[in-house]
Amino acid sequence: MQDYDVLIIGGATSGAYFAKKTAKLGHSVKIIEKLSPEKLGTKMDIVHLTKTDLKTFDIPTVREGDPGWAFEFSDNGFGSPSNRYRTPVPAETVGLHLHEYTALMVKEAADAGAEIEYNAAFKEFLFTDGHISGARYDTPEGEKEINAKVVVDCSGADALPRRSLPNGYGIERFKLADDDMFYVILRYAKFDEPQENTFWLNTKSWFAPFSMNSCEKIIGTGATGGFENAEREAAKLDSVTSHGNFELIKTEKGVTPFCRPPYSLVADSFIVAGDSACLTKPDCGEGITSSMVMIDTAVEVLDKALKNGDVTKEALWEINRAYNRIQGASFSLVRAFLTKLVGAVTDDEIEYLFSQGLVFNSKFLGDEKPTAQDLIKTVTGILSAIPKKYISAKTTAAALSGMRLGAELYALYMNFPKSPGYLPLWSARVQKLWDRVGKVAGSHS
Ligand SMILES: Cc1cc2nc3c(=O)[nH]c(=O)nc-3n(C[C@H](O)[C@H](O)[C@H](O)COP(=O)(O)OP(=O)(O)OC[C@H]3O[C@@H](n4cnc5c(N)ncnc54)[C@H](O)[C@@H]3O)c2cc1C
Repeated sequence: MQDYDVLIIGGATSGAYFAKKTAKLGHSVKIIEKLSPEKLGTKMDIVHLTKTDLKTFDIPTVREGDPGWAFEFSDNGFGSPSNRYRTPVPAETVGLHLHEYTALMVKEAADAGAEIEYNAAFKEFLFTDGHISGARYDTPEGEKEINAKVVVDCSGADALPRRSLPNGYGIERFKLADDDMFYVILRYAKFDEPQENTFWLNTKSWFAPFSMNSCEKIIGTGATGGFENAEREAAKLDSVTSHGNFELIKTEKGVTPFCRPPYSLVADSFIVAGDSACLTKPDCGEGITSSMVMIDTAVEVLDKALKNGDVTKEALWEINRAYNRIQGASFSLVRAFLTKLVGAVTDDEIEYLFSQGLVFNSKFLGDEKPTAQDLIKTVTGILSAIPKKYISAKTTAAALSGMRLGAELYALYMNFPKSPGYLPLWSARVQKLWDRVGKVAGSHS
């Protein structure tokens, strides 16, 4: 049986990134990945990352002609239900072939010294004195075991390792329910006419490129609850948006977590990251780089813990605190607000908000973070629309409730407990707020 400092389960974008960063610091790292190299990263063809993300994170920069590079664009925007209003939210974005790009990331991890074993599926944890000390996994040659000081779950939304933890080990073991996931249908379409890259919140749908040809667009639609809800949103988009004729080239389907992360991302000798930890963005469900925000922090803390020879949850706890300060608190705010808003707002109201530049702007739906001033401006704008009946009292109440709950969650996450002993008290308070936030309705009628 081999010994490593760190064993990573799952070798896609989160696993490869975690492995590269940890190996670069001189730690011995092994990835086990259940797929073959040919299948890794084939869950969909195209993903989009902004150029800022490509510069911010230690990931391969690809240019036209490089493996992985598919196209570039910057004309993103948000559309009103009737398509009369469009809020441009320009962002220099690169389209990547996920399979090829993941292979590049794995190669960088290997160049940094990490080992990867394919066709190797996690089965169960090994324990020494009640603490995780490695994992048992299945391979075509039979069952194998690895000893490791720390095991990292980067296995995606199914999160089998996190769900296999013993009861009371320190991390929630929930399995994502249908209403915790965004079911996405991607139709690769060739239109007769050029189309703009647009996101419509009312149908949770979007047009995004899959090549440099502006007639070639992915028509994405998503919904919580199941693919049948996503189909309904797609039908609604097709009926209300006059985007012309298109030839369907292919269809892809996928799921992305759409719920709060587990309260703690660490336990003794264990870290959870990526989709396994539900680190996806609350406004769009994208998760490749939001996971890297957490991993950058996690690797720094883990490095110190390994050097000090202490990988208990107390030694890894700063990962929780730092992550929530950097990203978790603001994601909670946006998630609470959008969940309440999307559940109540009508198409006519969205149309009005667009016409006034309220809510559906880059502050709330783009990468910028809303400030207190933005919140005040939004509240004032909404309140002044009620007497004119552009916005109903019901929707206003939902939006205000979302903001209040979001603000309370933000404050609690910014003050994440300093040590594990306070987590039960903190999480009981936070859970009451999440219960009041509820879930995004499956299909918007
Ligand atoms: C349709 C769609 C479009 C999206 N588009 C974007 C986008 O444009 N930009 C963006 O940032 N995000 C996008 N996302 C979200 C993004 O795909 C995910 O957030 C991201 O891929 C998560 O990466 P991950 O490495 O955490 O998990 P995954 O990519 O799910 O990787 C997990 C890996 O673990 C392996 N594994 C699973 N179980 C085991 C096991 N038991 N043993 C060993 N290995 C195991 C899997 O084979 C897999 O390789 C999209 C999601 C969907 C559904």
